[in-house]
Amino acid sequence: MRAVVMHAPGDVRVEEVEPPTIVEPTDAIIRVTATCICGSDLWPYRGLERLRRPMRMGHEYVGIVEELGAEVRDLRVGDLVVGSFVASDNTCEICRAGFQSRCAHQVMMGSIGTQSDRARIPLADGTLVKVPGDPTPEQLRSLLAASDVLGTGWFAAVAAQAGPGRTVAVVGDGAVGLLAILAAERLGAERIIAMSRHPDRQALARRFGATDIVEERGDEGVARIRELTGGYGAHSTVEAVGTQESMLQAIGATRPGGHVGFVGVSHGVELDGHDLFFATVSLLGGPAPVRRFLPELIDLIMTDRIDPGVVFDLALPIEQAAEGYRAMDERRATKVLLTL
Ligand SMILES: [Zn+2]
Repeated sequence: MRAVVMHAPGDVRVEEVEPPTIVEPTDAIIRVTATCICGSDLWPYRGLERLRRPMRMGHEYVGIVEELGAEVRDLRVGDLVVGSFVASDNTCEICRAGFQSRCAHQVMMGSIGTQSDRARIPLADGTLVKVPGDPTPEQLRSLLAASDVLGTGWFAAVAAQAGPGRTVAVVGDGAVGLLAILAAERLGAERIIAMSRHPDRQALARRFGATDIVEERGDEGVARIRELTGGYGAHSTVEAVGTQESMLQAIGATRPGGHVGFVGVSHGVELDGHDLFFATVSLLGGPAPVRRFLPELIDLIMTDRIDPGVVFDLALPIEQAAEGYRAMDERRATKVLLTL
């Protein structure tokens, strides 16, 4: 079968590999019907994350169940399923508290690779959620977004306590930041300030519910958010980048007593304890427990109440994965869908 393999920074190839087989009795094998390239795939692509050996890529997926291990109870061959980028049992204490991305038995799907014709899904009963009905192409695209970027943006908005009467600031205009805007709007936020300087992403931010756009960054960006909020800062801030600048911008943009949801994978972020102490904000972040939100998100998508799939602005056959990586690296595309 075909699979995307990264050999070195900037070197992505599509290769023939052995198809997966059932390893544990709790596994499922799915035929991947749609997958995509993640912003986090760009960290190794840009040489900012070390690559020890050629690495299979991908952790987002929608697929059809083809084979089930002997202990899988809740799924049937032929089911259309969505799962998150972390396989989880959904039964341990961490999962039951809603933090499936840190399940006591977690398996990172990135270590398996889903940019391929087939994928092994560990802990299938806990990980996979069956999609009811027969999705349209637009719904399928949105279901793929639910697998990571929508679920991550949703968690960020929930962690930031976006809701009625609240002003939400969103740092980062990639797919996750944009979908955090959609989430904040669905959660009833009164005002949503998107921080972006790209006209096409500003347009999408507004479509998802942003009421204000701030183009300034760093201290200037923080000053602008304060100016827009009567000097107070936002109640809720989403951080969806993962750099020192974006994290300081997010904390700085938040009013005392406010909440920051940070979901950009942290690279080189160092916080000064004294500044953090006096910021007087709540911080909650990490790998998003997408599995917590999947049933609700699938329902919103299959009833056409949200259309997060519009973040995919480029679709390519998997053979052209290298061009997909280039397009995202050069910011010619926000999010690339790979068809199989
Ligand atoms: Zn668990």
